[in-house]
Amino acid sequence: MASMTGSRRTVEFRCKACGKVFATEDMLEAHKRMEHSKESHPPAGVG
Ligand SMILES: [Zn+2]
Repeated sequence: MASMTGSRRTVEFRCKACGKVFATEDMLEAHKRMEHSKESHPPAGVG
C-alpha cells in the first residue's frame, strides 16, 4: 500500500503570465518563450 510521504514536496514552476504550472523550470522557460515571446517587450540585442 503506497502512502504519501510528506517529507518531499513537489516544486512547481508557475508561469506568472498565464498561471500554467510546470514540473521543471526548463519547461516553464520554454513555455514562456513559446507562448509569451510575442507581444512582449523585445529583448535587447536581437536582430
Ligand atoms: Zn504562460
